[in-house]
Amino acid sequence: MPNSGSPEAPPFEPYKVKVVEAIPFPSREERESALHRAGFNLFNLTSDEVVIDLLTDSGTSAMSDRQWAALMLGDETYAGSRNFRHFEETVREITGFPHIIPAHQGRAAENLLFSSLVKPGDVVPNNMHFDTTRSHVIHNGGQPVNVAIAEAYDAQREHPFKGNVDLARLQAYLDARVQAPVPLVMVTLTNNTGGGQPVSLENLRAVSALARHAGVPLYFDMCRWAENAYFIRLREPGCAQRSIAEIGRAMFDLADGATMSAKKDGLVNIGGFVAVRDGNLAAKLKEQLILFEGFPTYGGLARRDLEAMAVGLREAMELKYLTHRVGQVAYLAREIVAGGAPVFLPAGGHGVYLDVDRFLPHLAPDDLPGQALAIELYREGGVRTVEIGAIMFGDAPGSGPAPPELVRLAIPRRVYTASHLKYVADTVLAVWKRRAEIRGVRMTHRPERLPHFTARFEPK
Ligand SMILES: *Cc1c(COP(=O)(O)O)cnc(C)c1O
Repeated sequence: MPNSGSPEAPPFEPYKVKVVEAIPFPSREERESALHRAGFNLFNLTSDEVVIDLLTDSGTSAMSDRQWAALMLGDETYAGSRNFRHFEETVREITGFPHIIPAHQGRAAENLLFSSLVKPGDVVPNNMHFDTTRSHVIHNGGQPVNVAIAEAYDAQREHPFKGNVDLARLQAYLDARVQAPVPLVMVTLTNNTGGGQPVSLENLRAVSALARHAGVPLYFDMCRWAENAYFIRLREPGCAQRSIAEIGRAMFDLADGATMSAKKDGLVNIGGFVAVRDGNLAAKLKEQLILFEGFPTYGGLARRDLEAMAVGLREAMELKYLTHRVGQVAYLAREIVAGGAPVFLPAGGHGVYLDVDRFLPHLAPDDLPGQALAIELYREGGVRTVEIGAIMFGDAPGSGPAPPELVRLAIPRRVYTASHLKYVADTVLAVWKRRAEIRGVRMTHRPERLPHFTARFEPK
């Protein structure tokens, strides 16, 4: 691809534009009043108030022309749609798991799996739970524990696979399973809570061996499995010539099943699934599915959505696509670091995470510095981001060390160009220049579960 030889150049977009959507440009006054109306929670902004939306990479991808064409092949049959067969074949081929259960998004898949496996008093280890997996474990009476390697908690420490599991800590929970049962081990690929960092094949093999030895099933939170496989190809010895599909299968061969939000590496706006090896478990999951989501050949989705997912899952494994995708994240990180602002290193697969402790060292934890920084990025340039730290994860003591305090700039797939990313970097650096004057915020409304979505704040 053009300029792939120059690490400094912005990544070349491997597609051309067919449909455009205008970007709103709210004035400074409009942004200020939007912040007040939103209770200083960026989830309460409307899209008209946002210039560049890096709130999430979830369900915000641009679909390809082939995916849009796939929607027209929708066979909206209640039971036995041919779109389901195509989707099922695709996921079987990618994962090797025989039983494929569609769901409308990742947390619906988690609800099916965790409500079937997790009981009160259980412990569920994961490199780092994402907010929804953590909340579903708690909702079922279990205790989520994070067992990522020590490097995962140190924003400035470089490590090629910072998402890896600390095997000794995992073993300790497995050893204690007589007192505190472990119904499953989970590994999140890539580790969204800890900077979007990948897990190595070598580490997955070791985790799989420990879990198997203990007789505990291993599941993947596979939302970003293709990005994880791309990093394995780049960084793990012996993998440089292997395709993403091959690396993916090597990963899945080590597990008993997976939950997926196809709003990430499925390149769709809605969709997900659970995939498992165990036929008895699959039967149980399908009963739950019928109760909560719908018949097993559509799982809460229009059948055309299954068709678009089948196409998107394959596109997500294309090297040209992944080179650009991960290249965009690296480019944004480079631009921010070049201006002196601190980011979580190395850059991850789906976003740049600002290292809040180093960005705002004058703020105390109860100043909610991550939220304060996210507010300033919006105030400065209309850039919407999300705090991944004390607010998202601060309400569960005893689940392992707290994840680092970060602000995530998640990059939607195939949506923004290099000049948009340059604007984002300039916005971050403008805030960096006036960081000393940034004050903390306090929470004025604290919801019981998943607080970051609906909390309200005010400046201190
Ligand atoms: C997005 C996400 C989920 C939940 O998926 P939804 O589609 O948002 O319900 C679970 N785990 C991880 C790692 C995620 O990034």
